[in-house]
Amino acid sequence: MNIKNIEIYKLNVAISNPIRVTLGVIDAARNVVVKIITESGIYGWGEASPFAPITGDSQESNFAAAQQIADMIKGKDALAIDARMVEINGLTVGEPSIRSAFDMALYDIAAKAAGLPLYRFLGGERRELRTDLTIGWQDTVEDTVAQAQNILDAGFEAIKLKVGRPGLEDVAHVAAVRELVGPDFALKIDSNQGWDYPTAVANIKAMAAFNLEYSEQPLAAWDYDNLVRLRDKVDLPICADESVFDHHDALKLIRLGAADYLNIKLGKAGGIHTGLKINAIAEAAGAKCMIGCFAESRLGLSAAAHLAMARPNIGFIDLDSCYHFKSDPVRGGIRFDDKIGGLLHLPDRAGHGAEIKESALDPEKGIQV
Ligand SMILES: [Mg+2]
Repeated sequence: MNIKNIEIYKLNVAISNPIRVTLGVIDAARNVVVKIITESGIYGWGEASPFAPITGDSQESNFAAAQQIADMIKGKDALAIDARMVEINGLTVGEPSIRSAFDMALYDIAAKAAGLPLYRFLGGERRELRTDLTIGWQDTVEDTVAQAQNILDAGFEAIKLKVGRPGLEDVAHVAAVRELVGPDFALKIDSNQGWDYPTAVANIKAMAAFNLEYSEQPLAAWDYDNLVRLRDKVDLPICADESVFDHHDALKLIRLGAADYLNIKLGKAGGIHTGLKINAIAEAAGAKCMIGCFAESRLGLSAAAHLAMARPNIGFIDLDSCYHFKSDPVRGGIRFDDKIGGLLHLPDRAGHGAEIKESALDPEKGIQV
């Protein structure tokens, strides 16, 4: 099933509740979407949501790389996903976000060709997926509690709290949220590399009574050695996020004993093809995975949710990026339950089920290759 042509568009969406973290503020989605069209007429959609402080790429660089990738794969078999992804990943070690957009479009095509929803194409069966909701850095503890109250009111069962402030500033925020939500509510923290080793030890020990699920990326992405020390020192599971992009990182982290959980994001891994490898390595080591996101619309989240549904070892679901979008550019695909907070519904139509509405695509911001 050869690729006939590829459309590439910039997609900008405003966000009503910007998320501030250690590395910066996510105040809008500045994404790139691709539509791969085959000679048979079957097409697939993919989305990139670059966040330079983590992925090192941008909307502009993704847009340029997309043209290169499109030129490279045009005329070739869309169903040979392994061959296509070896080529795409071989083109650059950078630009993981746009590599993931092409990857999810290829999986969309393959699942449509098979007449299956993507999770079934990947060998999975339907299971319940429920996402947490993230609270970014707030100015005051009161503001953090107000956000947590909103999440409780919406019926969510899990909160991810962004931490990583200097010294022990985070402790009061986490304490106040735990007090609000009660002792058994699923609560996890994500430092986004904000602490050094002594600060991480001091914070996690100070939070010992808060029954946290895990500490996500407490240290710098490169600091594998201190992750090992930290994991030995504190009594809280460690989840690697920015430290794990691909299966090579996953293998190193597991062999070093540097993490209990690995956070797969399609935008880091370059898509489902590598995401599956990360999960397989984690599974072989008895480690659970989490699935996360950047600022994807429901398109990118749909692809991620299909992967999570297909692999129960992916036990922690953090697919909330579009929750505060001011507009919804997507037709079909994943949706949040109206009543049960965080419950995700995936359609049973073939592929990942999501596509961008024509009205959301600005032809001036797109090209065809
Ligand atoms: Mg994270």
